[in-house]
Amino acid sequence: MSAVNKVLIVGGGIGGLCAAIALRRKGIEVDLIELKSEWTVYGVGIIQQSNVVREMAKLGVLDGYLDAAYAFEDVAIYGPAGQQLARIPGQRLAGPAYPANVGISRLALHKVLSETALELGANVRLGLSVESLKDLGDSVEVLFTDGSSGGYDLVVGADGLFSKVRDLLFGDTYTPRFTGQAVWRYNFPRDPHIDHLANYQSAEGNAGLVPLAGDLMYLFLTSHEPTNPWMDPASMAEQMRQRLQGFTGLIGELREQITDSSQVVYKPMEVVFVDEPWYRGRVLLIGDAAHATTPHLGQGAGMAIEDAIVLSEELTREGSIEQQLKCFMERRFERCKFISESSVLAGDKEMQHDRDFDRIGLVKQMLARTAEPI
Ligand SMILES: Cc1cc2nc3c(=O)[nH]c(=O)nc-3n(C[C@H](O)[C@H](O)[C@H](O)COP(=O)(O)OP(=O)(O)OC[C@H]3O[C@@H](n4cnc5c(N)ncnc54)[C@H](O)[C@@H]3O)c2cc1C
Repeated sequence: MSAVNKVLIVGGGIGGLCAAIALRRKGIEVDLIELKSEWTVYGVGIIQQSNVVREMAKLGVLDGYLDAAYAFEDVAIYGPAGQQLARIPGQRLAGPAYPANVGISRLALHKVLSETALELGANVRLGLSVESLKDLGDSVEVLFTDGSSGGYDLVVGADGLFSKVRDLLFGDTYTPRFTGQAVWRYNFPRDPHIDHLANYQSAEGNAGLVPLAGDLMYLFLTSHEPTNPWMDPASMAEQMRQRLQGFTGLIGELREQITDSSQVVYKPMEVVFVDEPWYRGRVLLIGDAAHATTPHLGQGAGMAIEDAIVLSEELTREGSIEQQLKCFMERRFERCKFISESSVLAGDKEMQHDRDFDRIGLVKQMLARTAEPI
């Protein structure tokens, strides 16, 4: 019989929801708590590459997910004026009938995952967190912030970059670090040419266009912000336009249409990597709580989703929970470390304006590595 029959997942983001789905499909009882009392996500999109499409098939949500997404094949890299430098064909890892890559709005992804988790019987409570965790050896006693309590075979901290579960496990050993860069995002009607992921490189930063639906795409831009400045909300459109000055071509045309500051989504890049096993006893971290990185390779959520599926596979193998979590780490640690470090490296090279850095080579290496079985 499985050592783990009842799991608490802390955090109802992408990783927590995928863990809830994967564990429910294995017949494991799941309670999921989410800090936000209104279970929403911010309205820009996300790139999901071929390894994620493969994992969505394993989660059993692929058809609903693809209905809510924009499927595409290739990743192209252009210079600042739009001249093509490389075109990397997609790999159909979920099978020949399914696309290689996907762009999806975060809201649409949240809807597919949250509805599936609820349909499968995950017990979700909102506006709630953990106050304390007491590992009793054969179970974990959890005190919740509303004063209630519960006993679990395993607690999974999927509570993101500023994870409280990580603090409860490791104290202040691991705290998020600002990398020096920020990301700017803005939605547009989809340009007919953007039927693939289009990356544009310039000396100042990198921009990209991601198709999200037949009529929607978003533009992202990375910029160097060494002092992590406070930004006046009313100036965001102008500030984003300023940082896009180095681009001509399609990005240059779109730049002039960035006029509504309330629609600019700005985020400083912060990272953390737990450089030791992500568990102690019966408490484990997954996703950004363990390995939040920069978006340069578009794999942060991908790694959280893979964590969730590998966890469900390991927890239903024979063996003690210690053996199961050890096997989980063997399958996850190096892969996530590679993505975390490579993403940070790409950002560092942008900030250093290092023209010799082989970014296209790194993207190809990432695609080859993530295509490998986990
Ligand atoms: C600008 C930007 C662009 C990105 N683009 C991509 C991309 O294109 N592709 C990609 O794969 N990845 C991308 N990522 C990374 C991706 O967003 C994250 O890796 C992913 O969201 C991690 O999922 P998670 O579930 O671990 O954490 P989160 O998505 O952060 O979810 C954590 C959840 O836990 C909840 N929570 C927090 N604290 C508590 C608590 N104490 N108690 C209970 N609940 C709590 C939060 O409210 C949240 O719902 C990007 C990241 C950034 C910053």
